[in-house]
Amino acid sequence: MCTLCSDHGRRAFLGGSLAAVAAAALPALPAAAAAPRPHGAPDTVYHGGTVVPLAPGRPDAQAIAVTGGRITAIGSDRRIRALAARTTEQVDLRGTTLLPGFIDAHSHLPAPGLIGLYWADLSSPPVGTVTGIADLIAALKTKAAAGAPGAWILGWGYDQTLLAEGRHPTAADLDQVSATAPIWAAHTNGHMGVANTAALRLAGITEHTPDPPGGVIARDPATGRPTGLLQEAATTLVTRHQPALTPAQLTAAARATDALYAAAGVTTTVVAGGGADTYAALNAWRAAGVLRLRALLMLNGDPLAPGGLPLPEGTGDDRVRVSGYGEAVYDGSIQGYTGYLTQPYHRLADGLPAGYRGYTNYPADLLKRRVDALYAAGYAIRLHANGDAAIDDLLDAYEAAIAKHGRRDHRMRVEHAQTARPDQLRRMRRLGVTASFFVSHTYYWGDQHRDVFLGPERAARISPLRSAQRLNLRHSLHLDSPVVPMSPLQALWSAVNRTTRSGRVLGPAERVTPARALRALTIDAAWQHFHDHDRGSLEPGKLADLTVLSADPRTVPPQRIKDVQVLRTVVGGTTVHHRD
Ligand SMILES: [Zn+2]
Ligand SMILES: [Zn+2]
Repeated sequence: MCTLCSDHGRRAFLGGSLAAVAAAALPALPAAAAAPRPHGAPDTVYHGGTVVPLAPGRPDAQAIAVTGGRITAIGSDRRIRALAARTTEQVDLRGTTLLPGFIDAHSHLPAPGLIGLYWADLSSPPVGTVTGIADLIAALKTKAAAGAPGAWILGWGYDQTLLAEGRHPTAADLDQVSATAPIWAAHTNGHMGVANTAALRLAGITEHTPDPPGGVIARDPATGRPTGLLQEAATTLVTRHQPALTPAQLTAAARATDALYAAAGVTTTVVAGGGADTYAALNAWRAAGVLRLRALLMLNGDPLAPGGLPLPEGTGDDRVRVSGYGEAVYDGSIQGYTGYLTQPYHRLADGLPAGYRGYTNYPADLLKRRVDALYAAGYAIRLHANGDAAIDDLLDAYEAAIAKHGRRDHRMRVEHAQTARPDQLRRMRRLGVTASFFVSHTYYWGDQHRDVFLGPERAARISPLRSAQRLNLRHSLHLDSPVVPMSPLQALWSAVNRTTRSGRVLGPAERVTPARALRALTIDAAWQHFHDHDRGSLEPGKLADLTVLSADPRTVPPQRIKDVQVLRTVVGGTTVHHRD
């Protein structure tokens, strides 16, 4: 993710209004009146289900007791129900499955809500309905009709590989929506987008404008004129002209994102990239009851700036906490031809030179200096690297920092690590570096990775979960929302099946068991963020963060995992999502 999560991109996208969210007076939540209960009796008992602790030495149970927001006991129906007093709420699970709440290891709250509320949906099935340029134009026209005349028209989520034309839209295409209002159609990978002529004019982009460092202004090979497509750092030439969002808009987006995630069974979200303003906004939203999930914030910004980063590692509490430094996209996205590979892309798009391997957003020596400063300052570092050349550079930087400052329990991570090679996994194991995999790529772009971007051999090895498991390399899974919709069960289904959109299996050797993938969505993600002591598994004393599913994903037929429903989501003993 670049548009939303690089420091400059995030600021452009969110318009610098996050600080105003904290300053705006949001109504505070009324203090909950605690019901009197006999000493030691649970607040709530969940019984009659399959309770899956995902903790060593703890077999499945039938019931669980919660007191004061924490788990107090797990066991048989008989034993746990015997703890209940008259005031204890009793929830009959009716044979359903209760798991530790899902930990979303990397996404971009409040962007999913923001896009849902204010942007045209340009995504293709099964997420949206756009199958060609005409659909895309129609969706933007509908959005334009609902907005003020002349105002910016924003769209999110097109994917040129899923459009009938097999190409990006152009400025001329978007001019059919409006010749006067500026338009920005963002790619679903978040690393690029297309501006119409009015937006290019507003940004002052002409055939004479040079590519900015770490970005590309796509040009018509015949005329040299910009096509409208802007990649990576070039996106901000346009996005910085978009109007700032109001605090009320941002708060509405946070509320919508919180609801989407809760409905997906998420109890902790990791916000991949933000500053002190984001931290303040998260706390304001939490105080107002807008943010009911727990949030871990991975900082971004310039660690080499005088004074370093504004917040130390670990600032906060178990609701909102600074958890390392993250994303700070080093390379781009494979399906956008901006991931940085050691070997050329399999099939090149028009205009790309022979042997093209992608590129990075900033130089390797700057990466190294940043990692060095962050490691010295005690941050857990989790940087975005998709292409294997980018992963090489990142591991070089991690290794240099460890060598210089000494090995510690650093839990550094590679974000996405999409094309990590076997030797890189071994090197990660040796350095104590872990990974968070975006395994749903096997479904959403698996066919294109095999046929277009990477070729069959490399595509079969993307998101190498089984190889990581064989090396005992702990990893988490994520969906990078808004890149794809938040659904840990979809990630679980992809990890177990690796089925592509066309129904083929991409790299069957890298499939893992549901039990293994569940760990990646719970306890191993908690461990990566130094929170395995209070969440990620069901054990007495841990936070009562729970997800109730309609069926046990370990025992349903593997292809049915994506049909399992999230019935209830509980954060700290409070139900934040409930479906009958
Ligand atoms: Zn990323
Ligand atoms: Zn991201």
